[in-house]
Amino acid sequence: MVGWASPPDVTRGGRDDIVVIVNGRPVRDPALLQAVLAAYRPLLPRDRFPQVVLAVTLAPNDVDVNVHPTKAWVRFRHPRVVQEMLVAALHEALRRPAVIPTFGGEPREAVPGVEAGVGASPAEQAALFKEPAASYAATRFGRVLGQVQATFIVATTDDEVFFLDQHVVHERVLFEQVRAQLDAAPLASQALLFPETLELGPASRALLERWRGPLERLGFAFEEFGGAAVVLRAVPTLLKGDEPKRLVEAVVEELADPKAGEPTLDRALAFVACRAAIKANTPLAPEEMERLVADLETTETPYFCPHGRPIVSRVSMHDIRRELKRTW
Ligand SMILES: [Zn+2]
Repeated sequence: MVGWASPPDVTRGGRDDIVVIVNGRPVRDPALLQAVLAAYRPLLPRDRFPQVVLAVTLAPNDVDVNVHPTKAWVRFRHPRVVQEMLVAALHEALRRPAVIPTFGGEPREAVPGVEAGVGASPAEQAALFKEPAASYAATRFGRVLGQVQATFIVATTDDEVFFLDQHVVHERVLFEQVRAQLDAAPLASQALLFPETLELGPASRALLERWRGPLERLGFAFEEFGGAAVVLRAVPTLLKGDEPKRLVEAVVEELADPKAGEPTLDRALAFVACRAAIKANTPLAPEEMERLVADLETTETPYFCPHGRPIVSRVSMHDIRRELKRTW
């Protein structure tokens, strides 16, 4: 399987740029399309779509191209396997350092499609599946140098200088840690000493009702009264420092955004992780920065926050040398 996949911050309003080619022929296959979208969730808002070109090569007897006169539809002998391969390949592509925006590099939006995307050359295609996850645990961001504007962590390898936005680094780390915990149990919850009665408009109450399932798995506890009030009895322990009323207002504001889409645990969790994460303009000790960067390196998707925002920008030392006319 070879192809290109756009980073999640480079998106389109429609699905026309999602192309799957099987044995040299573009095919229409709703299940494969859904697999592509699933691989990008929850990084993309509901109404945005990636640019993806994937060419799959299958043994001739694993695919029947003669189910439709135009051969645009095909039948796979093992459709699930093909879908899972495709999701794995896209997850892999989104973990490649090629998705990191480069300062002074070509604007990634400039050429839609191939150049805008994450390249996987034929030589690399084997790695698309076979490279063990452990290889990512290496220190890909190198050594932490310090902090700029109390907001960006600066790290360097011999080849590159990285600028990491500390808030989204922490957001990504918390998101994956909490999601792993949730597989075992609901998130720790902090009961409020004094349950908070919140006067909310009908639209906000309806929204909380729709999102109640995912929010309660994350440690919120609501109880409705009649009329316009909702009672908040508990909040996720991660957010116990927040003023409850402002917290619920923030929940409503984020989830009312059409980009939030249908209620999902991941989307609600992205809210909690963002809210609990270290803010910009927070001075950090060197050990705290090292810990954050080390934790980021262990995540599955280290280059984008759960909302799809880039976490890291970089400057290549090659470009610096060129600028400074250092030729030795
Ligand atoms: Zn985010």
